[in-house]
Amino acid sequence: MAKLNENYLKLPGSYLFSEIARRVNEFKSQHPNVDMIRLGIGDVTRPLAPAVVEAMKNAVDEMGKPESFRGYGPEQGYDFLIERIIANDYRPRGIELGKDEVFVSDGAKSDTANFQEIFGLDNVMAVTDPVYPVYVDSNVMAGRTGMYDTEKGQYGKIVYLPCTEENGMKPALPTTPVDMIYLCFPNNPTGMTLTKEELRLWVDYARENNAIILFDSAYEAFIREEEVPRSIYEVEGARQVAVEFRSFSKTAGFTGTRCAYTVVPKDVLVYDSQGQGHSLNKLWLRRQTTKFNGVSYPVQAAAAAVYSEEGKKQIRATIDYYMENARIIREGLKEAGFKVFGGVNAPYIWMKTPHNMGSWEFFDKLMAEAHVVGTPGAGFGANGEGYFRLTAFGTRENTEKAIERIKTRMK
Ligand code: PLP
Repeated sequence: MAKLNENYLKLPGSYLFSEIARRVNEFKSQHPNVDMIRLGIGDVTRPLAPAVVEAMKNAVDEMGKPESFRGYGPEQGYDFLIERIIANDYRPRGIELGKDEVFVSDGAKSDTANFQEIFGLDNVMAVTDPVYPVYVDSNVMAGRTGMYDTEKGQYGKIVYLPCTEENGMKPALPTTPVDMIYLCFPNNPTGMTLTKEELRLWVDYARENNAIILFDSAYEAFIREEEVPRSIYEVEGARQVAVEFRSFSKTAGFTGTRCAYTVVPKDVLVYDSQGQGHSLNKLWLRRQTTKFNGVSYPVQAAAAAVYSEEGKKQIRATIDYYMENARIIREGLKEAGFKVFGGVNAPYIWMKTPHNMGSWEFFDKLMAEAHVVGTPGAGFGANGEGYFRLTAFGTRENTEKAIERIKTRMK
């Protein structure tokens, strides 16, 4: 008899976005003529940059010729891409990385979900609350958590770090020991960032407690304020305790193209039961070379074009476009009397629901009255209840229309 990994049974029903889709489809079946604007799921709408498309086409042509065809590439990624990543995303900020410290992959979702495999099941993990659900769910599947408490909306054995209005959506250090700390800044869903000094507290905590920070900076490209750190390695000592996840998905519209990378410095150690340190970099390499066969050559060639002069300009223009949407949403909601967070250094706007309304209740009301779909904060964790996320990834026309509808129809 095939036996189940019963940890999967701990996961409550449907994934957040399936539940949203279900509600939208039900509403649309009753109101077929409604023009629904979707500012919910964090997917992009602008096409790939022309420089990226051209590079991908050229790479496909190369693959069709015997003299330039390529089979399996290096599991860690091609040097031509890794060199550009280091030269553009790190060196200008004073961060020096070895080529073997960067691992190219097909997405930050898989990397952030897979990375926990290296850690023992007795590690205590900490996550901000609200949080991008993948960190929690992947640890649940692995068996590192207790059961889901439906009343609390939280799992046992996880240390939740509340991000609330009171602390300005910035998590406080844990008060009980933790070993793995997931941080995501700029944050999904709150759209908030940490200053370098705030991030330093976490790096220092990790150094003092032999903990490891799993730092997701999928939204780094959206940072506008000079003083906000782009990488955790801008903080002294982070090389000893932090792994950083980045993605071309939102930076360059690769959600459907799939390319990301993870930095695992050689200085990070993880300990066995005898207290002996082991290189996390070596273990991740071992894991990737066993379970992953690399990203396709045309996709890596396309990702490398993100760093060409033309590519950079085109990508900057797209990010500017989304950030103008973010401004329109943030300002519009404020004018309409809502309390808002984020949207300055991130493509997400986190709003407080009016009159202490539950976030699913607000979801239904916004859909029914303004015909706008967002994401209920409760879907990101217990402390997301009473909040709602809108994304800046829509078209300008839809963003303006959505805000106008919210202003005029939501009373
Ligand atoms: N990390 C965060 C915080 C995200 O919000 C997302 C996507 O929404 C991802 C990772 C996934 O990125 P990718 O498309 O590279 O898998």
